[in-house]
Amino acid sequence: MPAKIATSRRIKPKPKRKPALPRAPRGARIRAQLTVERLRELYPAVTELTHQDAFQLLIATILSAQTTDRSVNLITPKLFGLYPTPLDLAGADPAKVQAIIKPTGFFRSKTERIISASRKLIELFGGVVPGNIDDLVKLPGIGRKTANVILGVGFNVPGFAVDTHVKRLTNLLGLVKTRDPEKIERLVTKMVPREEWTGLSLRLILHGRRVCIARRPRCEECLLNDFCPSSRTRSKQMRKVSPG
Ligand code: SF4
Repeated sequence: MPAKIATSRRIKPKPKRKPALPRAPRGARIRAQLTVERLRELYPAVTELTHQDAFQLLIATILSAQTTDRSVNLITPKLFGLYPTPLDLAGADPAKVQAIIKPTGFFRSKTERIISASRKLIELFGGVVPGNIDDLVKLPGIGRKTANVILGVGFNVPGFAVDTHVKRLTNLLGLVKTRDPEKIERLVTKMVPREEWTGLSLRLILHGRRVCIARRPRCEECLLNDFCPSSRTRSKQMRKVSPG
C-alpha cells in the first residue's frame, strides 16, 4: 500500500487578542458621567489647531507632537500657503519645509513624517484623507491618538483621543487606573455614550491646559472638585465619599 503523502494544511493564524482590560475604579462610571456634563458646560468641543480641511488637520496634528497648538498655528499659514494639497507637500523640498516648521521643534523628523504621510496618502487613498481608523493608522506618523482627533474633528465620527492630558486627567478623576492609552480609550468608551467621545476628549485636553495643570492643578477653581478623588482642596474623608 503506497504511503500516504501528507498534504500541507494551512493553519490559520489566530486573530490577535486584545490585552485584558483592568477593572475601572469603583464609581468610575458616575464620575465619567459627571465629567461629561460639567465639562460640556465649560468648554466647546474644539481643537485649538487652526485648519481648513481634514488634510490640514492631519498635518497640524502631526506637527503638534511635543509642542503647543499655538506654536503650530504660527507656522501653518505659511506651510499650507506653499503646500496646500497632499501632492504639493509630497513633492516638497525637505530643506524648505524644515525651515518653515523649525519653531515647532523636532523639525527634521516632523518634516520626514509630514512628507511621507502625504506620499502615502496619495499612494493608498488618492490624496483623500480616509474617514476610518483602520485606514488612518496605515499612514506613517498616525497613531490611534491622531487618528481619533482627525475622525472626531474632521469627520464628525466619534473618537476618544488619549493624549498626555487625557491620560493624566482620566487617572486623576478616577475614571481609570492605567497609563496605557489603548486601555484608557477602551475603558472610557465603555462608560461614556458614543456621541460624547470626541467632546469629552477635546474638553479634557482644554481642562488639562487651563485648570488641571500638571504641576499646579487649580483645584479650588475646578468644576470637578466635588467628586474628584485627587482634589487637593477637599479632605481625604470627603474624597472617600465621592460618588461610588
Ligand atoms: S479637582 Fe484638582 S486634581 Fe481634580 S480635576 Fe480638578 S484640578 Fe484636577
